[in-house]
Amino acid sequence: MLEISFIPAFKDNYIWLLTRAGRAAVVDPGDAAPVLAHLAASGLVLDSILVTHHHADHQGGIDALCQHWHPRVYGPAAESITGCTDPLSGGESIEVLGQSMAVLAVPGHTRGHLAYVLPGAVFCGDTLFGAGCGRLFEGTPEQMYASLSRLAALPDETKIYCAHEYTEANLRFAQAIEPGNPAIAERVSRVADLRRRGLSSVPSTLAEEKATNPFLRCREPAVIAAAQAIVAVDRSEPAIFAALRSARNNF
Ligand code: ZN
Ligand code: FE
Repeated sequence: MLEISFIPAFKDNYIWLLTRAGRAAVVDPGDAAPVLAHLAASGLVLDSILVTHHHADHQGGIDALCQHWHPRVYGPAAESITGCTDPLSGGESIEVLGQSMAVLAVPGHTRGHLAYVLPGAVFCGDTLFGAGCGRLFEGTPEQMYASLSRLAALPDETKIYCAHEYTEANLRFAQAIEPGNPAIAERVSRVADLRRRGLSSVPSTLAEEKATNPFLRCREPAVIAAAQAIVAVDRSEPAIFAALRSARNNF
């Protein structure tokens, strides 16, 4: 089995670290320094880098890591990724540290955004967050909604390894949309407690996101009503999603 942990970076980024038998892979190394320090301290060899999308806080450390190591670098073919050895567009299966991973295309935040799926876990970058989702920088609401639906089709127990600690702020919006949802209230107090103790709220599970994340709840009557109270839209799921996403931008 792969072991999964994180290396914190910047203000709220998580660089996910996968290890097996002294070898390591990192997901979205936006900064090399904390990764190099961690690898040196734990005597790990860097085998692979997985990149979900091209933003600097996800790939800014690749260059420096490749000066110390010679990892395979997996990333979206449609985007400019430093040192990419294995350009991917979704639908592939790759083998990392002896574990096969499925590559999913999840465009919306960026146009080539990828998610890496292994049994029971997904590394989804800036697509799905704890109680929220990424901003639409390069894609349409329809694309992002389809991408979130692709993630939502994974098994309920799948752990959601997203790239940022945004859960607390996202939950405030979730609660404004669905004030009567007890699962959101429960998550608000659980996450507040974790954060107060300096602990991470990530990973969550897909089941938890389906119960509390408004962007995965565009079919729920309460969410539809809240979205339609903000802006007059039809009841189609992408339209509800688009209304929620733009409301979140101004929240
Ligand atoms: Zn991003
Ligand atoms: Fe990011």
